[in-house]
Amino acid sequence: MSGAGGEPLTAVFTRLIAATGPISVAQYMAESSARYYARRDPLGAAGDFVTAPEISQMFGELIGLWLADLWLRAGRPEPAHYVELGPGRGTLARDALGAAKRAGLTPRVHLVETSPALRASQKALHPDARWHHDLSTLPPEGPLLVVANEFLDALPVRQWVRTAAGWRERMVGLAGDRLLFVASGQPIDAKLPAELRDAPEGAIVETCPAAAAVVGEVAARLATQGGAALFVDYGHVAPRTGSTLQAVRAQRKLDALAAPGEADLTAHVDFAALAAVAQRHGARWLGTVEQGRFLRALGIERRAAALAATSPDQAATIDRATQRLLSADEMGSLFKVMGLAHPGWPEPAGF
Ligand code: SAH
Repeated sequence: MSGAGGEPLTAVFTRLIAATGPISVAQYMAESSARYYARRDPLGAAGDFVTAPEISQMFGELIGLWLADLWLRAGRPEPAHYVELGPGRGTLARDALGAAKRAGLTPRVHLVETSPALRASQKALHPDARWHHDLSTLPPEGPLLVVANEFLDALPVRQWVRTAAGWRERMVGLAGDRLLFVASGQPIDAKLPAELRDAPEGAIVETCPAAAAVVGEVAARLATQGGAALFVDYGHVAPRTGSTLQAVRAQRKLDALAAPGEADLTAHVDFAALAAVAQRHGARWLGTVEQGRFLRALGIERRAAALAATSPDQAATIDRATQRLLSADEMGSLFKVMGLAHPGWPEPAGF
């Protein structure tokens, strides 16, 4: 798309839509996210949003131990590859790899990242990593130990709206110089989830073909190469209707069409759909559980107590971070952890 330079994305979209008609929600989201992530590091207390690994080192450590435990019990197959999708600042990878190493696992490190700005931050922590634009260039041999935190929610969703004339794709159109949602005039070209097809007029259904493609590819790799994967994100475990498209800037929600390219645009992850995709591609679905339950099962409270005992001046901070990760009012329930593995790998912890 033109205008990738300094021109605000709103102006680019306005010109494009005026010339050629409405664009899909997926195109709007894909172009906005590419622009948003390309130039900045949006993470952390001073940024647009705060993720679990930026809240506490315990998050990455427990994930690293989960992977190491499975790999050790699988018989230490080599060469083992740690693969992280959308690694942000590289914080989770640092904490996970540190804990894994103490447990006896030192895998090769592969970071799948498209943003030049974030690749630069990752390189500072992981000078020996290999970077990939997508999964296709990952090594074809050796088990993959895959981690993705708040990655799937950034992938573009398609939306469908039931109009009086039937289901239509939900688009971004123009009223004067203002962006707004409209229904496409064309009948739809995709299959809607069967259980949602009879939703009433006005209902919106979201699908995420890009997330299905990623999870399908990971699952197929696990089935042939061995390994396990954890996808952590906010989302739902049963099919539902309604738009979950959301924009966040400076830790506040704003209208999804207000500031394309300048705010983080996400949608909830449909974990039920992804579990089905993973199984179709030959992986074992280990379950999808609430983040709070998963971290408790892995012993986060014991780890927090141990950290507080060695740094008593940090005890209140550690306690606050633990509550943010666990509490049902914060990240504990909305965030889910979906586990996948090679069908022959041992029983995992936490599910
Ligand atoms: N996992 C990190 C960062 C989450 S933000 C954390 O928990 O802190 C989303 C991450 O996904 C960023 O690193 C972003 O650059 C990356 N990303 C977004 N879309 C992507 C795509 N299509 N391919 C690869 N990485 C992508």
